[in-house]
Amino acid sequence: MAISIQPVQPGFGAEVTGVDCCKPLSSADTAAIEDGMDQYAVLVFRDQPLSDQQQIDFTRHFGELEGYNTLGHVRKKDDARLGAGIADFFNLNKSSTIMSDQDRVWFFKLGDRLWHSDSSFRPIPARYSLLSGRVIPSWGANTEFADMRAAYDALDDRTKNEIEDLVCEHSLMFSREAIGFVELTDEERDAFRPVRQRLVRIHPVTGRKSLFLSAHAGTILGWTVPEARMFLRDLTEFATKDRFVYSHTWRIGDLVVWDNRTTMHRARRFDRAEIRDVRRTTLAGDVATIEQAA
Ligand code: MN
Repeated sequence: MAISIQPVQPGFGAEVTGVDCCKPLSSADTAAIEDGMDQYAVLVFRDQPLSDQQQIDFTRHFGELEGYNTLGHVRKKDDARLGAGIADFFNLNKSSTIMSDQDRVWFFKLGDRLWHSDSSFRPIPARYSLLSGRVIPSWGANTEFADMRAAYDALDDRTKNEIEDLVCEHSLMFSREAIGFVELTDEERDAFRPVRQRLVRIHPVTGRKSLFLSAHAGTILGWTVPEARMFLRDLTEFATKDRFVYSHTWRIGDLVVWDNRTTMHRARRFDRAEIRDVRRTTLAGDVATIEQAA
């Protein structure tokens, strides 16, 4: 069956059929998926019962896995439920029982319900994230995606000019602070030192500009903190209006791939007494945004 990519809404989000993600991809299919990512930024593959190793193998068709697996990750290595190369979202601990609502890992994960771009707090932020739905709660738990290219395009010219060369600082500290989770260890504070990211990114293939917003952004260089926070909040509110958003309703076996360079996303609420087992692989970015050529 030939690969087919059909948009779920105009220009943003598409469903891919005719691909078995559990098997090696042909180079033609790999190229078609990359083209689809450049065009639609979020791709959905249904009915893909991936093992962890198959998910890792599928991800590697598109580049290298992000190599930051420990830095900044609150879940200690000894407590990890899954092997290397794959990240655990969400609410199970090593003994595969639902984690306590007092668990610090749970507090950290709650921060993922803020609009963000994965790894924007890393010096070189992530390219794609690939999330595989293994166990899905009966209510809620959608993942929402917002198109930062369309949001940029819709800004007025004065705002576009104002933000063209702005540089923000991003840190996990800023996003956890936003939900009142401020009890970090010295080791965490050290690991969460802010990194600099441009506010306007240019896609290396399409040349399209996009807003690089994230809940991890907490300052703008040269601005006071209150002015920066207020402006970032305003931009985020604008960029996540319904017309820029695709809301994904999960089915077991879904694989959803998004481009962190051109989108934000957030997790939505679900009943914490139910199991949600979704697993993520993350593709490394290749360049620091502050190195971006104008
Ligand atoms: Mn995320």
